[in-house]
Amino acid sequence: MAEKIKPLTKKQLETLKNKLLEEKESLVFGVQSGVTDLTLSAPEGSDEVEQSISDYNNSHLLRFRNREVFYAKKIDKSLKKFELNEYGLCTDCGSWIKYERLLARPTAEQCIACKEDAERDESNSFVGRQSKSLGRVVDLAGMMA
Ligand SMILES: [Zn+2]
Repeated sequence: MAEKIKPLTKKQLETLKNKLLEEKESLVFGVQSGVTDLTLSAPEGSDEVEQSISDYNNSHLLRFRNREVFYAKKIDKSLKKFELNEYGLCTDCGSWIKYERLLARPTAEQCIACKEDAERDESNSFVGRQSKSLGRVVDLAGMMA
């Protein structure tokens, strides 16, 4: 059933690596550029309405930031694979992930067949649904900006 997929060429790998680096740079809260001092407004002294607004903003900001951090970590993980010469290989079955798939989603770690299997399993469990929606949230990060 497994169709034979050719290994990525040097040039394709190069393209994907650049894409990952670009994506990383495009993250709003560039994790490595030290935006660690994301200040949350102090809760004391404000009245209840302001309080809830600032809580809302803070949690919103935090959630957005968490997504960025989450995605940045994925990018880092992918970049690390270049060093190990594991980039583009499915973590489940070890075969090559299609270039087109990586181009659309450079942080992909599984080939389509394994990904589909995993999603089928996930949809049977609550935990799986949660982590799945987490993945979708990451995809939506751009729309939230
Ligand atoms: Zn696979």
